[in-house]
Amino acid sequence: MFKILFLIIILFIFITVYSFKKKIDGILDSIFPSKNRHRTNKGDLEELVQCDNCGVYVPKSQAVKKIRWKGEDLYFCSPKCKEEYKNKQ
Ligand SMILES: [Zn+2]
Repeated sequence: MFKILFLIIILFIFITVYSFKKKIDGILDSIFPSKNRHRTNKGDLEELVQCDNCGVYVPKSQAVKKIRWKGEDLYFCSPKCKEEYKNKQ
């Protein structure tokens, strides 16, 4: 019985710490905006990825589907860039 109670308490602590960490991250980000982050329409922070062809930064969700090249993940800003990169290889 006590075991279950203990697990519930642990779970509760995890949730509290996690939501607290998210809050701190939000505050820190408003004070020190990170270059590699991008605020989406929903207000969420999203990682930016660099186009491997032209070097432009695009939000990960808007980047052209990555392809794997020599074990590395590649991202492109547009299908055109993806084609150009392929042709350069
Ligand atoms: Zn590009």
